[in-house]
Amino acid sequence: MGYIENPPVALNQLLEVVPDGIAFVDEYGVICHANKRLEGLTGYARDELVGQTVEVLLQSRCRDTHVALGHEFARDPIPRVPVMARHLDYRLLRRDGSELMVDVARAQFVLDGKPWAVVAVCDDSGQRTAGHVRTKAELRAIATELAAAEALASSEQRFRLAFENNVAGMILVDLEDKVLAVNDSFCQMVGRNREEVIDNGAAPFTHPKEFHGHLSPDETARVSYIDRFRHKDGRVIVVEVSKSIALDAAGVPLYSVISVRDVTQERALTAQLSHQALHDSLTGLPNRALFEDRLSQANGRAARGAGWNAVLMLDLDNFKGVNDTLGHVVGDQLLVAFARRLEQMSRSSDTLCRLGGDEFLYLAEGLTYPAQAEDVAERLLAAVAGPFYIDGVRLEQHASIGVVVWEGASKDCSELLQDVDVAMYQAKRRGEGRHVVFTPAMYEDEDNRFALTQELGHALAAGELSMYYQPFVNLATSQVIGFEALMRWQHPERGHIPPNVFIPLAEKTDLIYALGSFALHDAVSKARSWEPTAARASRLFVTVNLSARQFHDPNLVSMIEEALTASGLAPERLVLEITESVALDDIAGTMSAIARLDRIGVAFALDDFGTGYSSLSYLALLHPMIIKIDRSFVSPLHGSVYNDTLLEAIVSLGQKLKMTVLAEGIETQEQLEHLRRLRCEIGQGYFFSPAAPSGELAAMLGRVPRSWAQRLKRSTPTPVGPRDQAPPDHQGLST
Ligand code: C2E
Ligand code: MG
Ligand code: MG
Repeated sequence: MGYIENPPVALNQLLEVVPDGIAFVDEYGVICHANKRLEGLTGYARDELVGQTVEVLLQSRCRDTHVALGHEFARDPIPRVPVMARHLDYRLLRRDGSELMVDVARAQFVLDGKPWAVVAVCDDSGQRTAGHVRTKAELRAIATELAAAEALASSEQRFRLAFENNVAGMILVDLEDKVLAVNDSFCQMVGRNREEVIDNGAAPFTHPKEFHGHLSPDETARVSYIDRFRHKDGRVIVVEVSKSIALDAAGVPLYSVISVRDVTQERALTAQLSHQALHDSLTGLPNRALFEDRLSQANGRAARGAGWNAVLMLDLDNFKGVNDTLGHVVGDQLLVAFARRLEQMSRSSDTLCRLGGDEFLYLAEGLTYPAQAEDVAERLLAAVAGPFYIDGVRLEQHASIGVVVWEGASKDCSELLQDVDVAMYQAKRRGEGRHVVFTPAMYEDEDNRFALTQELGHALAAGELSMYYQPFVNLATSQVIGFEALMRWQHPERGHIPPNVFIPLAEKTDLIYALGSFALHDAVSKARSWEPTAARASRLFVTVNLSARQFHDPNLVSMIEEALTASGLAPERLVLEITESVALDDIAGTMSAIARLDRIGVAFALDDFGTGYSSLSYLALLHPMIIKIDRSFVSPLHGSVYNDTLLEAIVSLGQKLKMTVLAEGIETQEQLEHLRRLRCEIGQGYFFSPAAPSGELAAMLGRVPRSWAQRLKRSTPTPVGPRDQAPPDHQGLST
């Protein structure tokens, strides 16, 4: 049953003075309120009426009509405006059973979401009080007025409830911005009680910088804006304010209703989320999405003639080595340190972004000429050139840079990134720490590489591949003590193709296994053919280069055993060369491969030593028989004291760890002499001989070439004696 608890006072008075009987009836037809006059008309006391259905007042013959009306009411219980619904002649059934002819007017309204009806009952029997004879129109007007008064009361009540209980802060201010009312939520928001807010006005919580003047009275539309308030504890809160002006019936502004929502956390979260969406979490640099946005802005400016733009892609050289040898934590720290260096170098108008992994992008805007992009590349390379110290570990980290320069609007971002990627790979191929500017011809290079890989597949069968051998020389005696097997490809049309070009291609496919097997079989069978002539050669050895995939191939050991068996070469005369990065690629795998090789008596040499990231502890752990010092230390492009010191340190390190030190790339007398002074044991290089076809080796083996010997006499050799583990030397070779 519905229940009208306390009809507002004004309404109550009105109900009592009207000359008609009035009942409020709920959606079930139950009388919830009746006035005094209805008591008189019906003979029931008010308490008896409340709780009864209206049918108690109807003659049985009228009930059907009433039920039909009830159905209609149920079909459309909530009219938009309270209007008179019906006006009928009824016979009212009084408490004493007598009948009374009445006019009944009925209007519907909605209160708290529920449909109600107000029923006005007018005595139509001639028993009306003198002076109170009503027309039907008057009756209708009364019922409509009552319904409107009720609707107003209920709307005021609703407003009050909405104001007081709103989760948003609510304030009513007059046209002078004086606070008239405020709700609890608002008080909590600014940390003040009602009195403080009402007495002191807006000043104490309004953030001084952001005070918005009051709205002018004619500004009746709702306005929303973001403001900043100050909490009593001093905190600044960001609020979303929505302000509208209440008007009276004549449209005159009365006061403003302001609702305030604290959006401090929401805003902070939004800012954080949008930062996260646009930045890389490790380095805090912009990410690709932000980069693309900046690129499109740059294109817009460039289209308006703002000069040249360039995108540079930086990729750390051999970064995988750092991760693998020193762990991801150090790798991450290095990336961050790297990013900070680049950041220091970048202009505020440019954008530096981390594309992912060890790749960074740099957008340089507004260049006056294209070559300026290369200056930027060199500046970036210079910024990262010095050593990094991560967790006390000193790391040299170079990067390769691809550059794309354009004027006006660029290609779309993904095409641009493709171009700069191609240029970056070209830079990598040219060696560490370089930059290369993109040209469309580079795509032809890529096509060439594809074609070359296809051709390499046929080269072996076509007999275009062969093994050349470069001698190792005992620096003390200048005698040849072994050879490195180096592969050569004589292409029918393209001529000589260097292994630095085709080995990496083969590495990308299974071709490397066929090539590796070919090299190994050729090397062991040639080494077998160098077998002793009485006094020499019994200990002459051969080295074979292994690439990463070969080295980690589970069939490696069986293939070697098979080659050794087939050739009859003693295992100790074969040495496998692996580079530092290959060895450190997968330390556990490397250790187990070395152990298996050790079991069959085959040793290994660490090739290109000094170019990777070998930590000293790994060097001790792997314990290669030979360390081959990379030729960048032996014949550096620019000699420096720093380089000499490093060379000296590596030689002495090898000696202390009881490994044989072999210097690659000796090209000059001076280099040779320097190495001999350092007591480096073995040398290799063009000074002695480039790699030569096997047919030309006999001359080298037979006797120490006069030229080497003559040069030797001028130097002051005091080589260290042979060690237990030293590779077979060749004392007996010279005649
Ligand atoms: P690597 O193993 O470090 O071989 C030494 C390279 O330095 C050879 O180049 C050699 O010709 C060159 N070299 C020797 N002395 C000097 C010198 O005094 N000055 C200069 N500037 N260079 C010198 P090559 O033959 O072009 O081989 C390049 C690389 O290709 C090798 O480097 C090796 O990593 C790879 N490679 C060659 N043959 C094979 C092979 O059969 N299998 C595998 N997996 N890799 C191979
Ligand atoms: Mg080698
Ligand atoms: Mg080498």
